[in-house]
Amino acid sequence: MTAVLADPPVRGRDLPADATVAFVPTMGALHHGHAALIEAAADLADRTVVSVFVNPTQFGPSEDFERYPRDLAGDVAVAEEAGADLVFAPTVGTVYPAGFATTVDPGPLGDDLCGRSRPGHFAGVATVVVRLLGLIRPDSALFGRKDYQQLLVVERVARDLALPTRVIGLPTVRDPDGLATSSRNRYLDDAQRERARALPRALRAAARAYAERPLADTALVDAALRELAGIDVEYLELRAADDLGPARAEERAVLLVAARVGGTRLIDNVVFDPADRSAAGATFPEEP
Ligand code: AMP
Repeated sequence: MTAVLADPPVRGRDLPADATVAFVPTMGALHHGHAALIEAAADLADRTVVSVFVNPTQFGPSEDFERYPRDLAGDVAVAEEAGADLVFAPTVGTVYPAGFATTVDPGPLGDDLCGRSRPGHFAGVATVVVRLLGLIRPDSALFGRKDYQQLLVVERVARDLALPTRVIGLPTVRDPDGLATSSRNRYLDDAQRERARALPRALRAAARAYAERPLADTALVDAALRELAGIDVEYLELRAADDLGPARAEERAVLLVAARVGGTRLIDNVVFDPADRSAAGATFPEEP
């Protein structure tokens, strides 16, 4: 039975003092992507903690904080099924008590790509992650590569602040039609969902191009762009996979896309590894 706590779990009371703890932070509306992280966490440690917290500080004033899907009962069911021992579902006042004044600024990495259209977003993410890690004190914390820039921001913050938690990134989980599973997919109607499939199609086209010929920035980006005709693309960029700097020949690279379909902002990415040129394409279903 998964316990649900509004207050931070206490070692020795809610969690055995000598147990290893793996932590999966989420904003709820849990789906298969979250479940994969929770399952991996449960395999990794003695106890698995999942947080469900829609963090106000990572939303801009005109973003979807108010209408973000909230369903704690459903989340507890998914978390339990995936092997979570404990769901931490705090109020805003518990995460940000009166007088809370600190912001963790991840530096230039947070101003690039998604940070360009979402100023302050990654500072909000970094601050809540550091706060949650402080409250839970896990041995490891698991994040999805679907939010690629977020993962790099969290890795950077953990390294720069010498946090004792090990940060682990896991592959993107996709729905059978190729779309990366996301809580925000709930906003899409059938026609929008059909249009949104252009994102995985575009990334798959680039992955195929990568498997066939040596890394060439424009060829990969062009292959993807052809599939994105009619979609409102915010950015489509090929970057170095380790730090999101300029992509370098014969090193791991990542193609990242952000686009709007209707009012919904979607992101996705694919990683290219020169050591295994066909791996990128294998992450997509045959006909996304
Ligand atoms: P969120 O609830 O959207 O803030 O996501 C919580 C965690 O789940 C983050 O580490 C995300 O990267 C991860 N996540 C969300 N969707 C997916 C997915 N489709 N595949 C893998 N990880 C995901």
